[in-house]
Amino acid sequence: MTDTATLDIQPGRLFIGGEWQDAASGSTFDTINPATAEPLTQVAEAGAEDVDRAVRAAREAFESDAWQNLDARKRGKLLYAIADRLEERADELAALETMDNGKPVREARMIDIKESIDCFRYYAGWADKIAGDVIPVPGPYLNYTRREPVGVCGAIIPWNYPLQMAAWKVAPAIACGNTVVLKPAEQTPLTALELARAASDAGLPAGVLNVIPGFGESAGGALVNHPDVDKIAFTGSTAIGKLIQRQAADSLKKVSLELGGKSPNIVLDDADIEAAVRGASMAIFYNSGQACTAGSRLLVHEKIRDEFVEKLLKRAAGFVPGDPMNPKTRLGPLVSEEQLDRVLGYIEKGKQEGAELLLGGDRVEVGGKRGYFLNPTVFGNVTPRMTIACEEIFGPVLAVQTFSDMDEAIQIGNASEYGLAAAVWTRDVRKAHHVAHKLRAGTVWINTYHNLDTASPFGGYKQSGYGRELGRYALDLYTQVKSVWVNLA
Ligand code: ADP
Repeated sequence: MTDTATLDIQPGRLFIGGEWQDAASGSTFDTINPATAEPLTQVAEAGAEDVDRAVRAAREAFESDAWQNLDARKRGKLLYAIADRLEERADELAALETMDNGKPVREARMIDIKESIDCFRYYAGWADKIAGDVIPVPGPYLNYTRREPVGVCGAIIPWNYPLQMAAWKVAPAIACGNTVVLKPAEQTPLTALELARAASDAGLPAGVLNVIPGFGESAGGALVNHPDVDKIAFTGSTAIGKLIQRQAADSLKKVSLELGGKSPNIVLDDADIEAAVRGASMAIFYNSGQACTAGSRLLVHEKIRDEFVEKLLKRAAGFVPGDPMNPKTRLGPLVSEEQLDRVLGYIEKGKQEGAELLLGGDRVEVGGKRGYFLNPTVFGNVTPRMTIACEEIFGPVLAVQTFSDMDEAIQIGNASEYGLAAAVWTRDVRKAHHVAHKLRAGTVWINTYHNLDTASPFGGYKQSGYGRELGRYALDLYTQVKSVWVNLA
């Protein structure tokens, strides 16, 4: 099964004000299956006029008495109902995510779709627990706070975890009483449309969630620049995050940004080597390295370097690129030709700058089609200033560096403009916490990698962005605090 004809999916239209609509211009674009490089289906392409319609629908829904006066508990029930709709179709959604994005279907099902469902359930539970405080102020006054929704939230998301990134924004935004205009990435718009369908089937009032596939500058830019959008929640590249922050300044929209990473994965000389080898491979090859938290810089103590690298290469060679619809496949294609070319460009740069190519580095054919497959790639003899040690590659490309003591590892680990995630492998509990505390990153893993949970905050230090998604922390992104004074004299 490699085309959408076998799936019961939404025709690719815009979802605005509770209705499926064509783009005002009539434009559509192809979405491509990265495993075959063939078009999957066509999707309506939102332009500025459609963005405006979606924002107006979201504003109208936000201001409606029906939404403003809806019991928080009923908002929660709607979110539970969305989760149920997604769960009923979980296998189909996983297949769709795999066709659109290329990720192995097993991971799509066990991670992307499962975590998206969890996310809606988690924030469903929060909806009626978002409370203010009573503040002890001097004088005969009662002072209390209310946590009110921000208003119309624009969500702009990337292609690496399409449904999950949508869930991370839509679920808390709705739990807090906002309305949303969601722009999925142009490479992967299909599951966002299915989310709209789930919301509609669950009875979410018209206009509370609008989904407008389209391109970055046109649709995304129109959303960021729209004067009636109160907040932009963005996940994507650091370059576009900076652009969005600049553009949002004109209307002082609230902005939260989850951006790139170049996460250090540090292996001390007392680590459990077998476990660290497994962790290091998964850290970089999971989702073909197309994760902002990918462990793309492996820092290994020089004493164990040779043994570690030998075992790592053996393990890495086991990540054989394959048809992502096969449940046994662990390494799918990259998302697009553009992304493949970018990654191949970095591999070339690594060679030119003198890193040693230890494994992979080449495009491969799977199933006789020109899909965007790349072999797992490992570079040794990498030094901190090389491009492949500094820039986010977003592909299955690992840069191995060495260090001679823990402080040097921390120093190299922190010598990055990014600060999204990091990990340390050691058997010494004191060293583990010491390194974890010193690393400037929003998530640090100790003797593990890539753990995420809806209940635990996620976000970046430095140029990896700001604001924390997930957990109760996301409630801060989607509410604003009002202080109310009452004269009791
Ligand atoms: P990537 O390089 O991983 O594709 P981007 O940051 O370019 O990451 O894209 C992430 C999301 O941001 C996508 O939905 C994309 O369409 C959107 N986007 C890209 N450029 C802009 C822009 N100028 N304004 C608003 N959104 C944009």
